[in-house]
Amino acid sequence: MDDAADTTLLLRPEEVPPVREFNAGGRSPFLLTCDHYGRLIPRALGDLGLPESELVRHIAWDIGIAGVAEALSKHLDAHLIAQRYSRLVIDCNRPPGAASSIPILSEATTIPGNEGISRDTAETRRREIFDPYHRRIDAIIDQRRQRNMPTILVSLHSFTPVYAGIARPWHIAALYQRDKTLPLLLLQALRAEGDLVVGDNEPYAVSDVTDYTIPMHGEARGLVNSGIEIRQDLIADENGQQQWAERLARILGAIGERLRDIAHPIR
Ligand SMILES: [Zn+2]
Repeated sequence: MDDAADTTLLLRPEEVPPVREFNAGGRSPFLLTCDHYGRLIPRALGDLGLPESELVRHIAWDIGIAGVAEALSKHLDAHLIAQRYSRLVIDCNRPPGAASSIPILSEATTIPGNEGISRDTAETRRREIFDPYHRRIDAIIDQRRQRNMPTILVSLHSFTPVYAGIARPWHIAALYQRDKTLPLLLLQALRAEGDLVVGDNEPYAVSDVTDYTIPMHGEARGLVNSGIEIRQDLIADENGQQQWAERLARILGAIGERLRDIAHPIR
């Protein structure tokens, strides 16, 4: 069954689906997700009332992470599941219904196209963008379990170097909530690099109200997991993206070997 079925209210047939996958046959224990991979806006929504200069900012997507995620997927031989539409349409890492799910304010920018929308409109965005993405992650975790493949979930993000006027010193961060197994190994390995300012649950920490992917796919399913956030100015160009992907592939590859035995899903 097609996700949009017979009532495509938002995405038109010629528009790309929200889910984009890379290396689906990858043998790595790592399953990579990228909630804020793209910044597409369904044509039916126009520009959400924003100028192009706002639609290329960090409020619309995670700048630079797409290139890192794709290269990391290749280096690790890991399956990557990414979401192409802008987080300003619906944020795939927020619980639906939360104020930040379909934001009317992001940093200091109001989003006119999100003001006063009906519950039906919000539901449609969820049904056509949010749900297919998360259903796909779920299905892949099921499939891997059926094939007895270990799964370590890594949720890839990037953060703006300056938020609301405050500069962030960290180059990279591990983000987590209930399961610290992978984050602690990551923090240790990143600090051992010697040239990095490493964020330990900074500038963000994972929580059930501000996140969706790690709580729902990592924690609720008993998967070893971590969020990774990279500062956007370090991965703004392809060179930076490739360097960070290579570094992360080396670090995660070594950690993956240590975790292989405990990385089987429990349900
Ligand atoms: Zn993000």
